[in-house]
Formats: sequence, structure tokens, C-alpha cells
Amino acid sequence: MNKILQISEIGNPILRQKSVAIGNISDRQLDETIADLMATCEAANGVGIAAPQVAASVRLFIVASRPSPRYPHAPTMAPTAMINPEIVARSGELVAGWEGCLSVPGTRGLVLRDRAIEVTYFNRSGEFVRQELTDFVARIFQHELDHLDGILFPDRIPNLTDLITEAEYLKIAFDN
Ligand code: ZN
Repeated sequence: MNKILQISEIGNPILRQKSVAIGNISDRQLDETIADLMATCEAANGVGIAAPQVAASVRLFIVASRPSPRYPHAPTMAPTAMINPEIVARSGELVAGWEGCLSVPGTRGLVLRDRAIEVTYFNRSGEFVRQELTDFVARIFQHELDHLDGILFPDRIPNLTDLITEAEYLKIAFDN
């Protein structure tokens, strides 16, 4: 039975720690953690969640883009666990997009991210994966990777006039 885990919020020191790499990728406990993370992400209408958000300071996150009340225009993909993820190349083309975070409830901010990135990680089966991610999924990856380094999206907002409430954001999202 998967557990819905409690999500730490901004101000909790664990969100500011640098997470450690996972040494034993075939650990059975890891599979359980991944299942709990996926269940917690889905229950919270998230499109991604990182292990430090649920008090495990290890280099693991879930990318799970799908349309939801929080992100009505998100593309659909199978929820994917990414272990010891890294960015190995960046397009250098920066695009602005609205981000929110389950650890920063009720707010959105306009954040610049690389439009395309080449990434590596180990998947849930322990296989090494190298792939190119673009647009919204690339944005999720960059946001979640920041969590592993103790960075939250408000740190990345160049202009704080671009920090708004979720209610105001949804007006923008549904107008387009
Ligand atoms: Zn987040």
C-alpha cells in the first residue's frame, strides 16, 4: 500500500540541504520510496516531486507531467523516477515559464530555464538513461534538480513582480 507522505514547506531546513547520491540503486527500500513519492505527487496534483520534499535528502525525483487543475496545459507522460539525475548539456536558449511548487503553496513565479537539456539518470529498473528533454518536461527536470541542491523556484525569479498567487496564475492560464 502506497503512503501519502507529508510535504515539507519553505522554511523547513531540509529543503535547503544538498542531497546525497544514492549508492545502492537496486535497494528494495528505494522501490517503496519511489512508489510513495509517485502516490504523493499524484494526490497533490503535482507534475513532479523530489525526495527532499518528503524529508529524504537523497538524489531522487519523479517527473510526472499531466494536465491537472494546477497545470491545465501540461503534456501527459508516464510518471518517471529519476535517480542520481544530471544535466549533461544545455541548449542555452532560455525561456520564461510559470512555476509553482508543492513546498511553496499558493504561489507562482516566472522563471527562466533552458528550453532543451540533455540529461542522464538511473531509472526505477536501475538502467542508465540518457535522453533529451524539451519545453515543460525540461522545466520540471530543472526545477526538481534544483530541489536536490537546496534551491527553490523563488530563488530563480529575476524580478519579484513576477511572483504571484496561484489564483492570479490560474486566471492567466485559463485565458490562453
Ligand atoms: Zn518544487
